[in-house]
Amino acid sequence: MAKNKNIKNICIYCRRSEDEVKEMYESAFDGVAICGDCLERVHQIVQQEKQHKEKSEVESLEIKTPVEIMNYLNQYVIGQERAKKVLSVAVYNHYKRLKYESLKTSSEEVSLDKSNIIMICKTGTGKTLLARTIATLLNVPFAIADATVLTQAGYVGEDVETILTRLLQNADYNVQRAERGIVFIDEIDKIARKGDNPSITRDVSGEGVQQALLKLLEGTVVNVPPEGGRKHPEQKFIQVDTRNILFIAAGAFDGIERNIALRLNSNAIGFQESLNREKIDKNDMIRYAQPQDLKSFGLIPELIGRFPVLTSLDNLDARALRNILTEPKNAITKQYKKLFELDGKKLIFDDDALDFFVQTAEKYSLGARGLRGILEEVMLDLMFTLPDENQTDEIHISKDYAKQQIEKNGGIASIKEE
Ligand code: ADP
Repeated sequence: MAKNKNIKNICIYCRRSEDEVKEMYESAFDGVAICGDCLERVHQIVQQEKQHKEKSEVESLEIKTPVEIMNYLNQYVIGQERAKKVLSVAVYNHYKRLKYESLKTSSEEVSLDKSNIIMICKTGTGKTLLARTIATLLNVPFAIADATVLTQAGYVGEDVETILTRLLQNADYNVQRAERGIVFIDEIDKIARKGDNPSITRDVSGEGVQQALLKLLEGTVVNVPPEGGRKHPEQKFIQVDTRNILFIAAGAFDGIERNIALRLNSNAIGFQESLNREKIDKNDMIRYAQPQDLKSFGLIPELIGRFPVLTSLDNLDARALRNILTEPKNAITKQYKKLFELDGKKLIFDDDALDFFVQTAEKYSLGARGLRGILEEVMLDLMFTLPDENQTDEIHISKDYAKQQIEKNGGIASIKEE
């Protein structure tokens, strides 16, 4: 629209004309404008509103106590008592800190550090399940990232910022919600530096990614590509403040037992003291892990420092596997029972069939992950005929039937991991 030079601009807020103010910002319409003073005032009001909204959201944040978190976890995760306790306390402290830091007055001197968590555990022991269950309880956005696909900027792979893209997507692009979310970084051990001497080789794939992660973990404003990756060069970045995002990292750290044993042995006095206090369980060295063991494994000290809470998960024994089949709220056998019930049938697993599933998972070192695969193999034929089955209302799964199904379908080789 062409402007009429004869019409003087008047500020729509204070009604002063352009002769009376220092700056005047005109709109596309003749005579409609806002002066610099009013623009600044409006900006301040918008900022105050935003802060007020954020504050009241934080104030209304319901913090679950460690006992409440633990009780909830117990409904879904079998065993792992030590890790559950550590996680419950760390998560509680994290949200307590978030509330305190957001609401504290300027006279308050104490500032609380973030309690990111690192877990050492073999695969299939429930680490993802633990992190996911906590996120569900707290009703916060949750994202899982795989450290193995991350690269430092400029190399083929994903930039570390894409971790936050997933979090943003899971928060429906609500930045404030994403800024209180939980990010789970799996396979963190795979970005360990190869070899303990940093000066021998420059290990871009591992150490470079660790360096890039530091920025995210320490709590800064990060430019996040909303669509992820570098495939969309035209996309505008979204700024995400990572100060209040809880990072939980996990890895199997294969072979770290050796580092732990070495440390315990070289520190002879400490070792003796420990021996007096408790007998060291050589089959479960992981539980004695300390930050320095992660360093000798190849994580850089700065990264370890950003994970003040260290815990480990136990290997699952036969009893735990047996419980996993039946105890959790959405245990796999409960899920099958529900599926059958929806078709009007009662499904019963015989005790020895359940024992057989566990023995099979153990025999082939499939762990908890393998249980689902085993059951799918056993149940396939029944699931196929179930909707057309009119003869019986009750179906029993016996050990013999389970065995026969697995053998029929090509044995254990056909069982895939989840
Ligand atoms: P990982 O430790 O490799 O992250 P997950 O947490 O993904 O393993 O576990 C794989 C599956 O095994 C889960 O979906 C769950 O069904 C089962 N599972 C593993 N550990 C446990 C556990 N401690 N309690 C209950 N279920 C478990």
